[in-house]
Amino acid sequence: MRALVLAEVGRFELVDLPDPQPGAGEVRVRVTQSGICGSELGGFRGTDGLRHPGLVFGHELIGLVDAYGPGVPPDRRLEPGSPVTVNPLWSCGHCPICRAGRPNVCPDRRLLGGHVNGSNAELVVVDAGSLHPIDADGSDTIILAEPTACALRAVRRTSVGPGGSALVLGAGPIGLLLLEALRRKGVEVLLFTERMDGRVPAGRASGGVRLPDGDDELLDLVRERTGGHGVDAVFDAVGSSQTRQSAVQAVRAGGDVCLVGLHAGESMLPVRNLIRREVACVTSFAYTPTDFADAVALLQSGDVDFHGEIVHAGLEAGQSWYEKLVAGHPAGKIVLEPSPATVTAGAAR
Ligand SMILES: [Zn+2]
Ligand SMILES: [Zn+2]
Repeated sequence: MRALVLAEVGRFELVDLPDPQPGAGEVRVRVTQSGICGSELGGFRGTDGLRHPGLVFGHELIGLVDAYGPGVPPDRRLEPGSPVTVNPLWSCGHCPICRAGRPNVCPDRRLLGGHVNGSNAELVVVDAGSLHPIDADGSDTIILAEPTACALRAVRRTSVGPGGSALVLGAGPIGLLLLEALRRKGVEVLLFTERMDGRVPAGRASGGVRLPDGDDELLDLVRERTGGHGVDAVFDAVGSSQTRQSAVQAVRAGGDVCLVGLHAGESMLPVRNLIRREVACVTSFAYTPTDFADAVALLQSGDVDFHGEIVHAGLEAGQSWYEKLVAGHPAGKIVLEPSPATVTAGAAR
């Protein structure tokens, strides 16, 4: 099979690898779409503890069931050729953290395209329990199931609700899906910041009002729109020291700050200020299986509008797209197409 392998930091190579064989409890999927995730850019730049040379990246995918390994009961198998998406985060399922309903932070969790070869290849082997059947001729946005699940989880970590106010810092794919999830929830005052002008139209189309990301002016405008108090919830989809500071300052007393972006390892925060205003500072990492299933259902229903540009490209264009994204290209989502979607009628694009 053809696969895009990280040959060295900053350089992918399109190579022929032996077809991967599904082991016990596994299934092989023919990958028709593989989205490039912002979380992978660090691996490309060599600043990621997880992704190293020799690895096939890719954890956001759509494909067609190809072959099952042993040990998957016949009544739990989908027909070969069935269109599916995959929850790429696999937890152990039996540690105290998994049993407490937090499998997304299981210490033994594994990520497709991180711990094992991912979907930037014609074929990928995944856990059979991670498949989600999808409509062959369904919405073009199903490829966004994974980032949508991240956004749903982040909103669920806070108590912002109908009629409330929220500020989203960063209008990349996760920021846009956060705006969409908040709008769907009935949040009335929806604000966002974004440094890249090319991403602003999509943020506005998602129902958000853009504010400048410079501190003083940002805070003045947030207060102006919230009766002087600050927003009910701030979602930091960037994770720089500056956005973390802005998040803490823009939230109202008793509100929620939800830290999502992983950009900076450490940041100084005004903790006394947080305590005195009883701000709930929560973090949100990835998604649970429930968040993922809900994201698939939402996208299947066609109710979720994604206003970022979705660009489709061949696997051979992977290198140049990673380079453009690292350089700050504003595209909403780049989707590589390793295999033609020809097996199931209606799935072809
Ligand atoms: Zn992702
Ligand atoms: Zn576990």
